[in-house]
Amino acid sequence: MTTITRFAPSPTGRLHVGNIRTALHNWMLAQKNGGKFMLRIDDTDPERSKEEYVEAIRADLAWLGMHPDGEERQSARLDHYESAFEKLVEAGRLYRCYETAQELDLKRKIQLGRGKPPIYDRAGLELTDADHAAKEAEGIAPHWRFKLDHDAPIEWLDAVRGPQKFDPATLSDPVVRREDGSWLYMLPSAVDDMQMGITDVLRGEDHVSNTAVQIQMFIALDAAGFAGDDCAVSDPYPHFAHEALLVGKEGKLSKRLGSLGCDSFRERDIEPQAIIALLARLGTSHPVEPIADINALLETFALETFSRAPAKFDDADLERINTALVHQMDYAEVQDRLPEGMGEEAWHAVRPNLETVGGAHDYWKIVTGPIELPDFSDEDRAYLAEAAKVLSWSDNPWGALTSALKESTGRKGKALFLPLRQALTGQNHGPDMGELLPVLGEETARRRLERAAA
Ligand code: GLU
Repeated sequence: MTTITRFAPSPTGRLHVGNIRTALHNWMLAQKNGGKFMLRIDDTDPERSKEEYVEAIRADLAWLGMHPDGEERQSARLDHYESAFEKLVEAGRLYRCYETAQELDLKRKIQLGRGKPPIYDRAGLELTDADHAAKEAEGIAPHWRFKLDHDAPIEWLDAVRGPQKFDPATLSDPVVRREDGSWLYMLPSAVDDMQMGITDVLRGEDHVSNTAVQIQMFIALDAAGFAGDDCAVSDPYPHFAHEALLVGKEGKLSKRLGSLGCDSFRERDIEPQAIIALLARLGTSHPVEPIADINALLETFALETFSRAPAKFDDADLERINTALVHQMDYAEVQDRLPEGMGEEAWHAVRPNLETVGGAHDYWKIVTGPIELPDFSDEDRAYLAEAAKVLSWSDNPWGALTSALKESTGRKGKALFLPLRQALTGQNHGPDMGELLPVLGEETARRRLERAAA
């Protein structure tokens, strides 16, 4: 069976590093198995869902190199939810309730006060036809709950967490539909997973108890004959995997991570490959390394390697990986982002000194000038005048220059190199001069040495 995974964001905000990670792992799981990766836009909440976020989600995934094999959106699938709903009502698995949010809150407080878990008391199940008629006469519409089957434990083998077991009596019957007819997340998601033939649901561990509920929904839908021809998979439900959440480096769920997304990565000139390399392995038993080759990352990708402990996101790791990847990048990859006129030789000269590709702009200014010179001593000025004189051009002008000066002046080490670097670049540190001098060119180099000597 072809693996089909999905990433199902709600378009109520931008993607953040936590859901980028979930998207990546779903994409990788599909790639690894030669399967398909679907984007499902969970936009059943018309008030909070915004088209600009849908577009931003698509753009962010594209920037990161995760191209979905298909896209669905829940707002276009309401008739499927309606028919699933009808089947479940017929099968007696959905029931009407009328409690207000305040009433439910009060019930929960009373339960907690008595030391009991705040589980819905199923008062809605006790209502008679006359009760419903009375509500209807008052113009009060019901909301609908899914009736969990309390007869047997809910069990599954989670690909990250191992065997899972839930006593359904410890869960509240979930509300699936509001008074106004709109849908809550739970049922549409199960319907979609069935109809889209999702074979593997991989999501954050905050969804573990949702999975327990949804497994019963899959089984109920299947038993109610909803699956049948409508359904793309033969099993009533997919494999599940719940990954540990992403936390800040201090080990806590951090607010900052919740708003850290592609815009801020781009602003900081972080390469998408660095994000991929970090998130692919963070929280797994494989070391996080600057690996640009996605196939190499796919090779070691396996849900069994995922830790159950929260994965710690540290910006310093991201920067370290980014820098290491920049040092490996070919000219062709970065050409469009380099300053006008900066060629391959110059890229190779400055690349080892960069933290980000954008840093090349600063180094290019050293090449194009003007540069600012320090105050040289008389002795150094004489030395630089000598340098201008002996400068000659060859395959290795820096090697030739420094050997000639070493011989003629007896200088060595810092005294030999630093005044030259300062005169040629205006800096105390920087790229390897052996690589940079050919980029400067003979004329500029001689002019700068002469000016420094004057
Ligand atoms: N829209 C849901 C969320 O963002 C999807 C969860 C799921 O993967 O089923 O939490």
